[in-house]
Amino acid sequence: MDSRDVFPYQVVRDYDLFPLLTEEEVVGRVRQMSAQISEDYAGKNPILLCVLKGAYVFCSDLSRAMTIPHEMEFVKLSSYQGQQSSGEVQEHFLTHIPAERPVIIVEDIADTGTTIKYLAERLRSLGVTDLCIATLLRKPDQYRVEEEIAYVGFDIANRFVVGYGLDYMGYGRGLRAVYEMIDKNLGR
Ligand code: 5GP
Ligand code: MG
Repeated sequence: MDSRDVFPYQVVRDYDLFPLLTEEEVVGRVRQMSAQISEDYAGKNPILLCVLKGAYVFCSDLSRAMTIPHEMEFVKLSSYQGQQSSGEVQEHFLTHIPAERPVIIVEDIADTGTTIKYLAERLRSLGVTDLCIATLLRKPDQYRVEEEIAYVGFDIANRFVVGYGLDYMGYGRGLRAVYEMIDKNLGR
C-alpha cells in the first residue's frame, strides 16, 4: 500500500510525504528506550501515562517491550489545530493517577513543550513527586520550557511529521513509519 492512500484526496493533492524514519528505525529505538526504562525503573512499578491521541502507538510498543511490572493510564490533551500549535492546552480527560506512584509521561512529540509543561504541572498539583518524561520525537529548536526530558527517541528538524500515531487532520496515524509532510506549493 502506498502511504498516501490513507489520506483523503484533498491532502494527497496538496502534500508530499517524505520518509523521515523507517519502521525498523522507530521500532529499534523504541525497544532500546523500553530496555533503558526497564533498567531505570526496576522494582518501582511505574505508571506509563499515555498522552492521547498521538502517543497511543508509541506507548503500546514501549509497554509491550518492557520487562518490568508497570501500569498504564491515559490523558487526552489537545493544542494543535492543523499544523499549528494554538499555544493553549485543553484537557479532555485524565484517568486516575495515584500520587505516590512514579509516573512516566509518554508523549509522541515535544515541539514547543507547552503540552509537557502543562501536564507536568498538573500532575504535581495532584501530588505526584516522582515524574519523568519520555517522548518519541523532539524538535529541539522549538523547545522553550524548563521541563527536562529523560528519554528522547529522535531529535528532528522543525518540520511537520505524521505516522506512528501522529496525524494530520485526524489521518495518517496508522502509518508504520514517520513521514515529513511537505506542502507541494511551498516546498520545505
Ligand atoms: P507542544 O505543546 O510541545 O508545542 O506540542 C506538542 C503536541 O503538538 C504534540 O503532542 C502533538 O500532538 C502536536 N505536534 C507537534 N508537532 C507535531 C508534528 O510535527 N506532527 C504532528 N502530527 N503533531 C505535532
Ligand atoms: Mg501529543
